[in-house]
Amino acid sequence: AKRVYLFNEGNRDDRELLGGKGANLCEMTSLGLPVPYGFIITTDTCREYFQAGNKLPGLLEQEYRVALDLVEKKMDARFGDPENPLLFSVRSGAPVSMPGMMNTILNLGLNDEIAAGLAEKTGNPRFAYDSYRRFISMFADVVMGIPGEKFEHEIEKYKEAHGKELDVDMSAEDWQAIIAIYKTIVDFPEDPFTQLKMAVEAVFQSWHTPRAIFYREMNNISDTIGTAVNVQAMVFGNFGEDSGSGVAFTRNPSTGERQFFGEVLFNAAGEDVVAGIRTPLPVDALQQRMPEVYDELYRTQELLEKHYRDMQDMEFTIQQGRFYMLQTRGGKRTGRAAVKIAVDMVGENLISEDEALMRVSPDHVEAFLHPTVDPSAKKDIVATGLPASPGGATGQIVFSAEEAEEVSKTGRSVILVRRETTPEDIHGMKVAAGILTELGGMTSHAAVVARGMGVCAITGCGSLSINYADGIATTEDGVAMKRGDTITLDGTSGEVMLGDIPKAEASSSDDFQTLLSWADKHRRLKVRANAETAEDAAKALELGAEGIGLCRTEHMFFEAERIEKMRAMILSETKKERKKYLKDLLEFQRKDMFELFKVMDGKPVTIRLLDPPLHEFLPHTEEDMQALATSIGKPVEKVREITEGMSEVNPMLGFRGCRLSIMYPEITEMQVKAIMSAAADAVEAGYKPLPEIMIPLVVNVREIRMITEIIDKGIQKVLKDRLISVPYKVGTMMETPRATLGADRIAPEVEFMSFGTNDLTQMTYGFSRDDVGKFIPSYIEKKLVEDDPFVSLDQRAVGRLMELAVSESRKAKKGIKYGICGEHGGDPRSIRFCHNLGLDYVSCSPFRVPIARIAAAQAHV
Ligand code: ADP
Ligand code: MG
Ligand code: MG
Repeated sequence: AKRVYLFNEGNRDDRELLGGKGANLCEMTSLGLPVPYGFIITTDTCREYFQAGNKLPGLLEQEYRVALDLVEKKMDARFGDPENPLLFSVRSGAPVSMPGMMNTILNLGLNDEIAAGLAEKTGNPRFAYDSYRRFISMFADVVMGIPGEKFEHEIEKYKEAHGKELDVDMSAEDWQAIIAIYKTIVDFPEDPFTQLKMAVEAVFQSWHTPRAIFYREMNNISDTIGTAVNVQAMVFGNFGEDSGSGVAFTRNPSTGERQFFGEVLFNAAGEDVVAGIRTPLPVDALQQRMPEVYDELYRTQELLEKHYRDMQDMEFTIQQGRFYMLQTRGGKRTGRAAVKIAVDMVGENLISEDEALMRVSPDHVEAFLHPTVDPSAKKDIVATGLPASPGGATGQIVFSAEEAEEVSKTGRSVILVRRETTPEDIHGMKVAAGILTELGGMTSHAAVVARGMGVCAITGCGSLSINYADGIATTEDGVAMKRGDTITLDGTSGEVMLGDIPKAEASSSDDFQTLLSWADKHRRLKVRANAETAEDAAKALELGAEGIGLCRTEHMFFEAERIEKMRAMILSETKKERKKYLKDLLEFQRKDMFELFKVMDGKPVTIRLLDPPLHEFLPHTEEDMQALATSIGKPVEKVREITEGMSEVNPMLGFRGCRLSIMYPEITEMQVKAIMSAAADAVEAGYKPLPEIMIPLVVNVREIRMITEIIDKGIQKVLKDRLISVPYKVGTMMETPRATLGADRIAPEVEFMSFGTNDLTQMTYGFSRDDVGKFIPSYIEKKLVEDDPFVSLDQRAVGRLMELAVSESRKAKKGIKYGICGEHGGDPRSIRFCHNLGLDYVSCSPFRVPIARIAAAQAHV
């Protein structure tokens, strides 16, 4: 295949083959913009080079020499000709933007003789030798691996010895002296064609520099793509005071405002702008000094933005008053800017609402929902865990929920640091600004609860070892974080930092609301929230939830007074005793449900029957046992004996979910009574409750039959007693592999199915969701899994089970509603999958609702 393309042979759609930079250079050329001419060696050639064990294809040089001849003609100068020299830049450019990650060599094609020729021809020796010294150090650094600092250091030494301060103070003779010193450090090839060949190879190689590899890992970019090489005629911003280089954005990249924005440096090469050795001037300076050039730049940026219909980031150079374009690309922007630009551009008739929605990523949206740590201010990162709940938080370290409450009462912000969290820690988690745990995964207790509350959290931070007694958490590197020390968590990246790192506060904006309203117009999937309290439900509604997809009733019993009753109920030795405690629990439940129905007036509320992994509710400490013993009037030995008798080897696979209803039907009877009484109360109070009762952890249809019978009986009794009509539904969780495989048999017995993908993932993989923090990061690093399957739904296996369940149950019964209520319900990629599967709704924690609305729309457009 053709390996070399001239700038007039491609266009913007050729990114894959020519790289982003090359494709855009071609596009600008065909738009008639002043782009120094050149050619591109394809990304295919790069892969060919790697496959051959880092060997350039035999014919490549011949091919690019033909292109080079044509560039010489066009530029009216010759590569390697001292009389009339043509110089090149050799620039990397991958299909996906990796700004500054790979290498570029400028001023290629110089040696002593040609540099002298350039000085002569231009009559500007200072410029010629400045370019030459730049070439030598850059070539030595990039191609020959001699660190650039060595050369910088020589300049520093020389300036000091000769009383010069700035680069502009250096004369042609000074640069010549520097060049003489450089030549003692590096022995570079004199022949321009050898230089070119080595530079091409160096650009290919730069695909594998550590910083490029790291950048790809951070941004999920495939390792196998490779880079193109752009060989382009040089233009010179360092020619004199009538020359310069600059960078510009068509809109403000941090606020999104429609306001041309740029920086320029006179008598400087573009590398000086990027390197930050001199402070550039605002682009207005150009308007004053060279108004015509400014006008041309201004017209160009207008043209490019209209043409690309997106905010552009551009690089330009001015040589002796002439303007040249060197690069344009879609500009990187903050979340706020992304949303503003997308909405503004719809208003300007540049893009459609669909396109606007596609311009905004979930990361962009975070900034509107959570405080975010300023990326440029990050420092002293001492540990990294799983990014369990996004946002940033700073506070002083506390090691228990009690301490968290105490300290936060004094008005100080706290970070709760625990090995793991349990339901008893809720009161501390509620007041904490952030939560950090040593153990756990993305769906462990701390993670789920924190996301639900919108509190920033990092879980599975395995490099910490926590000593509660001394109040110290020590990192792998031996950094000790003590009780009372201030730390900052970035729950979006999983990083733990010492001290107070600046953050941007969250706040919504009109543009954000506009974008969300478009998302609602353009999606088919409904979005519900996981919530159990009226407060969370109200938050969810405010963020756009269309119902509750998961109300975990056991979460309603975590509070101090209630957990006592719950424990008493669990530890009851007789049915009579249990019924006594159930009565108390019924009152709590009925009140809570009433509040929930009130808030969710007219919207469905899916209530899951009790699914407590029992170990989460049993008393753990001696103190707890003592307290419980006193309150239920049993000797502490008895409490200990029952507790020990109930302890399970594998609680997550133990006595939970509907197994409870089978063993203790009276618990289910109580719950149904509470739910339906609350619904009846709500109807009487003028509301429109829509309860949907959901059975958890089912494995076969016989369980469902037995339990739906209890439920139906309970419902009918309440409705009859109250003489009231309430629409309701009964359905099941689909969260064990066996249930999904038997969906055709389960279908006739239910009105809805909700995929509990946390448990389904746990059971499909056999990975305990509370323990994955220990090994998932290694699995990802070693590429044994692509993503944490608890974050992004594993479509291959877990997704396959879901597909099967949907298609088989549809055959068995029409009109079943399908939802997902695992944490995946808030993950954009998983949402796309659910959309394609034809589910009716996703349910996620309240703070994910806006992201889910946008992701659902993106899946549909
Ligand atoms: P990056 O991909 O890291 O932005 P570039 O390939 O854009 O690297 O090169 C870096 C800088 O080198 C550019 O910003 C520009 O200032 C300068 N440069 C590249 N090619 C030329 C050229 N043909 N003439 C003058 N300057 C150039
Ligand atoms: Mg660039
Ligand atoms: Mg479950």
